[in-house]
Amino acid sequence: MIHKIEAIVLRSMNYLESSKIVTLYSREYGAIGVIVKGARRAKNKFGASLEPLAHINAVIYKKDTRELQLLTDAELISSFPKIQQDFEKLFLSLSILELTYMATRYAEQNDALFNLIIEVLEEIEHATKSSLLLFYYFETQIIRLLGFQPSIESCSSCKKPINELEERGIRRVLFEIDRGTFQCEKCIPVLDTGMSTDLGAVKLWEQLSRLYVKKAAAMFWNREIQGDLDRIISRYIEHHQPEIRTLRAKQMFESIRPD
Ligand SMILES: [Zn+2]
Repeated sequence: MIHKIEAIVLRSMNYLESSKIVTLYSREYGAIGVIVKGARRAKNKFGASLEPLAHINAVIYKKDTRELQLLTDAELISSFPKIQQDFEKLFLSLSILELTYMATRYAEQNDALFNLIIEVLEEIEHATKSSLLLFYYFETQIIRLLGFQPSIESCSSCKKPINELEERGIRRVLFEIDRGTFQCEKCIPVLDTGMSTDLGAVKLWEQLSRLYVKKAAAMFWNREIQGDLDRIISRYIEHHQPEIRTLRAKQMFESIRPD
């Protein structure tokens, strides 16, 4: 059956002499592997539409018994040119693709997730300040959309709302990775240093998980809590989605970015 799809290219690799195997995340079918015959011939019609990050309309021949579908046509909607020219934007966007690839291999089609990817990439494309918060926004949102949102609206022990803790003198909390909850420092006598974190990091996570992307993009935030937020989110994702490993693009970004 011939299907028209809208997709984002997650990965692309050469196959045999002139073909490519491409992993797409599509609005219609979720993650899907396609083979594109002749994609590397000198005169091919695909241009940049099969490169990672390309947002495309495509035509595929789909057979449910086949693992790889056949892609016969692709038209570029956007290649996100500003992302391609900026080190931070590029590596954070590649991290988003990598996370999507690992998180959705066995997941169902998910319209909201597809929209999220496109919206966040468009926001990064036009961002005039650091896009790091948009990357964390993406992480908190994919966690929510895949159904493992933590319960961080209040302390799991005293039940005080997270937004009231600061005025009560709380600065640190213990994030409980396995249950996706936290306890404020008044509820636990000695903080377990492994998952002890700045209250601000959990607060930021809680906020990001319920904002629209435009609001997240306009937010100002304290850079000091970034390390804590980064650490608790990635440990939480790894714990709850074992198929997700360290993001290579993110690691590369950390190792070469200026401080
Ligand atoms: Zn408490």
